[in-house]
Amino acid sequence: MLKVLKFGGTSVGALDRIQNVANIIKKMKDDGDDVIAIVSAMSGETNKLIEYAQYYTKTPDLKEMDMLLSSGERVTSALLSIALNEMGYKTISMSGREAGILTDSCHTKARIEKIDTSKMKDAIKDGYTIIVAGFQGVTLDGSRVTTLGRGGSDLSAVAIAGAIKADVCEIYTDVDGIYTTDPRIEPKAKKLEKISYDEMLELASLGAKVLQNRSVEMAKKLNVNLVSRSSFTPEVEGTLITKEENIMEKPIVSGIALDKNQVRVGMYGVIDRPGVASAIFTALADKNINVDMIVQTRGLDGTTDLDFTIPTTDLEICKKVMTQFTAEAKNIDYNEAICKVSIVGVGMKSHTGVASKAFTALANENINIRIISTSEIKISMIIDEKYAELAVRALHDAYELDK
Ligand code: ADP
Ligand code: ASP
Ligand code: MG
Repeated sequence: MLKVLKFGGTSVGALDRIQNVANIIKKMKDDGDDVIAIVSAMSGETNKLIEYAQYYTKTPDLKEMDMLLSSGERVTSALLSIALNEMGYKTISMSGREAGILTDSCHTKARIEKIDTSKMKDAIKDGYTIIVAGFQGVTLDGSRVTTLGRGGSDLSAVAIAGAIKADVCEIYTDVDGIYTTDPRIEPKAKKLEKISYDEMLELASLGAKVLQNRSVEMAKKLNVNLVSRSSFTPEVEGTLITKEENIMEKPIVSGIALDKNQVRVGMYGVIDRPGVASAIFTALADKNINVDMIVQTRGLDGTTDLDFTIPTTDLEICKKVMTQFTAEAKNIDYNEAICKVSIVGVGMKSHTGVASKAFTALANENINIRIISTSEIKISMIIDEKYAELAVRALHDAYELDK
């Protein structure tokens, strides 16, 4: 079998953890498998590098940020390669560029355009175990290193697995699979044996960082056999992320996600005429700002209120963009003390009363809902951040997800 494995920050967070990863790979090699392992930076490393840059400025040059951030993954890829080599295996570490990962030039959030697998294929043929530095690529013209957005090593792994047609892509982390909600928040959370790509994509997009959302999207597109499991208990089977038709029993609600990295931007007394929303959201899109929920209230006296949410990481750029629109609104404010809780389940499509149950559960805890948005398979609610964990547990109970 050709296996693509990915080891996250905690799995390579110390030298003995890297040795543990080497032992996991050794077992597979001894079983006759070919292995390409993608590694993250040691846990905390990427945050530390971001803090270093912020010592000088809140808005550093993004090309330089990519140069800086990509270094963390290079360290762990070389260390793992050295460890395995010492155990008697032929290994080679590769940066994103060496692995042939070509991206657009949207620095710090680059998209993979193409993977040139020739170098990896040759190395496998020659009996090497390949260790790829995750989270990074190179611009199509080869001029600059890029990174793929936070949690991007998941994407590196899935994209490589898809491109090289691996038999499986296993994402090793510090929990042994996908749970009904973050087990650190709700200890009663239950592990799922399988989950559909679509539900996993929603959970990931709505804050469940166990998998990066773009990696799930890519897995669905390329039909990658994706498994989430733990490097701390590698003997335990993880969760399979697969096509909806491969799942017999479809629960109404599969999971609850929480996202604390959200800011609510409030524009009050916005001039109510055609083109205003278009101008604002085009300007935000031009800066690659991910706008999520948008609510416009009923106009009054020729003005209206416009609320939307963005990721905290985009706040500084958003503030800069919004300076163009100060004349269009009476007031613009930014509230970081909010969070988004979401309920996800494919069964929602065909059941009624799912939303009302959520609202009642939060009302019973005296939690006020500030914005609501729904789609076919999810309900999201913006609430005050201080109620985040309480809300997750209340919703988990309401849908009896521990049963
Ligand atoms: P890595 O560093 O290995 O990429 P992450 O920290 O990005 O790991 O993701 C793993 C974490 O995701 C877990 O420790 C867990 O707290 C969190 N998590 C959030 N939601 C879920 C969920 N539904 N199931 C499992 N883990 C979850
Ligand atoms: N090191 C990067 C991050 O912390 C990428 C990753 O771990 O997937 O976001
Ligand atoms: Mg991660």
